[in-house]
Amino acid sequence: MLLRRSESDFSRNFIRGRAKNGVSMNLSITGLHHVTAIASDPQRNLDFYVGLLGLRLVKRTVNFDDPASYHFYFGDAGGTPGTILTFFPWPSAQRGHRGVGQIEATAFVISPDSVGYWLGRFKEQHAIAEKISARFGEEVIRFTDPDGLLLELVASSSIAQVESWAASTVPAEHSLHGFHSVSAALEGYERTAQLLTESFGYRLVKESGNRFRFAAPSQSGPGRIVDLLCMPDRREGHVSAGSVHHIAFRAKDDDEQLQWREHLVELGYSVTPVIDRIYFHSIYFREPGGILFEIATEPPGFTLDESIEDLSSKLRLPPWLEPSRSDIEQVLPPINIPAKQ
Ligand code: ZN
Repeated sequence: MLLRRSESDFSRNFIRGRAKNGVSMNLSITGLHHVTAIASDPQRNLDFYVGLLGLRLVKRTVNFDDPASYHFYFGDAGGTPGTILTFFPWPSAQRGHRGVGQIEATAFVISPDSVGYWLGRFKEQHAIAEKISARFGEEVIRFTDPDGLLLELVASSSIAQVESWAASTVPAEHSLHGFHSVSAALEGYERTAQLLTESFGYRLVKESGNRFRFAAPSQSGPGRIVDLLCMPDRREGHVSAGSVHHIAFRAKDDDEQLQWREHLVELGYSVTPVIDRIYFHSIYFREPGGILFEIATEPPGFTLDESIEDLSSKLRLPPWLEPSRSDIEQVLPPINIPAKQ
């Protein structure tokens, strides 16, 4: 039997936890930076996220750890942190399965006036989507991508400012406004909750059944919410095509990231050294429920190596892979980016 704790318990622990560790005193996480998932066919992945969902491909690059495969970044016009969904499309990847120790669903925000538009768009494009029961007063459309990744559109009156992309396949008034939340499936939620509240500065804001909603203290910016789903009877998930590989939270700069690293190491986490992802710098660690967490810096961003107008017009490689460009281009499958009709 898992004990349920009240919000005031969380708040007390939050204050105690923060006070005993000077490093974290002025730090809090403001929200998600990106979500990274695994796909199979790269063209099908582009057709779905650009062609159907109207996101912009903001960077066409390769997996730095496996340069024979693409790494796609989808987001708003400029790739604002909190709007970015990224994929490793591995054509031969088998399908994974959802379970505990994984992100169950990734949700984007839409305007409450766009629910009818989206239901109609899915139907018209023969994509299976359903309106499920409202969650904490907000309407939810649930659907999967071609690899089985579970996604949601949440109709929310609290819409963060993102940069809309004029060439989107979706009219601006119905476009996705960055992440609403991720839902994490966990065997027991309490240690993950403790990380969110005592270190990240999140607060338990709502709960219903086995769903516990935590929100970042910041009042603005996309991706402030993490829902923890307590699923003790669920089997363990297997990460492959159609699964989230990791989620990244944002840090405002390198300095803040180093403070996070020091703090997490003090708490006993095994944290990677800072890794250069060119468009941001990253540290990774596994949270207590088994999900891979990353903390990524907001700068330098996706306009580091191409102008905002040109984002994703060419294959971009990090300097250490440039000497192998022709070999890499030969093995990558050709792709077409869907355009507005
Ligand atoms: Zn990442």
